[in-house]
Amino acid sequence: MNDEIDGAAIEVQSLRKVYAGGVEAVRGIDFTVSRGEVFGLLGPNGAGKSTTIGILTTTVRPTGGAARVAGHDVVREPLAARAASSVVFQDQVLDLTLTGRRNVEIHSRLWNVGGAARIDELSATLGISDIIDRPVAIYSGGQRRRLEIARALVSDPQVLFLDEPTVGLDPRIRHELIDVIAGLRSTGMTILLTTHYLDEAERLCDRVAIMHEGEIVALDTPPALLASLGHEVVELRVRGDGSHALSMLRGRGIADDAAFVVGGTVTLPMRNGDAPEVVAAIRGMSLDITALATRQPSLDDVYLRLTGNTFAGAA
Ligand code: ADP
Repeated sequence: MNDEIDGAAIEVQSLRKVYAGGVEAVRGIDFTVSRGEVFGLLGPNGAGKSTTIGILTTTVRPTGGAARVAGHDVVREPLAARAASSVVFQDQVLDLTLTGRRNVEIHSRLWNVGGAARIDELSATLGISDIIDRPVAIYSGGQRRRLEIARALVSDPQVLFLDEPTVGLDPRIRHELIDVIAGLRSTGMTILLTTHYLDEAERLCDRVAIMHEGEIVALDTPPALLASLGHEVVELRVRGDGSHALSMLRGRGIADDAAFVVGGTVTLPMRNGDAPEVVAAIRGMSLDITALATRQPSLDDVYLRLTGNTFAGAA
């Protein structure tokens, strides 16, 4: 059933979605995901990530543009697009009264795929072999998430969609699940995932698209996104709102366009400047500073600069 993909695993062109009532959730986005790539969609609530996944999994009809999954147009060939992919949504779809195995079996019958051996293999891959024959009601949150991924994989999809796969899990379970997803990556599976967790994106994704208000505001590998901020950032905390401090820093030529404010924290990426010189200049100013430090840039900085309270052009 799974004909091989010739080109990209996912192709999205000028994709738009306007919901009834006029909310423009997706405003003409473009991206391509290659076979075997793990691609992350990042963005704050309301950015349009779920709508994009909804279109790719054929539950949301686009208003404009085109999207193909494994070469199949999601509007013209929705059944083929669905047959080539699987999705794990945030809302769980498991029957808690049944065993894990039975949940997976029901799904595999539906798709007429997989067998006992395949279920055993997937249970082993996802680390749930010892509980697969027990009722799902006794599973922990992390184990349920693993079972949902096993269930999604039983149809041997070419593309796996994971919508916030680790949301609501405690940190240790979250990191274990990240390891499981990293393991899938090494099998060559194409994965598109959405996440709020920047460390997760950095760890798992070959490339990341940052969405904001229905648009993609950055798309690159995590190292390239980090490099856009230079090799260091200077971070200062002031009492109250940091925007006044940023205006003063801009007025003195200490902060450039890349600098941004979140609450009382001002972050200055050192794209051109020299951190010790900038720190010395800041100390010489009459700012009510509570903390001043130099550190390495993180993906959080990239994300906050593009989607947070950036104070663009505030000088
Ligand atoms: P994200 O997944 O990034 O949080 P969504 O795709 O869920 O973003 O939402 C994008 C925008 O579309 C939001 O403003 C949201 O309120 C709106 N939206 C989402 N689903 C619907 C819907 N069914 N009807 C109307 N508006 C919606």
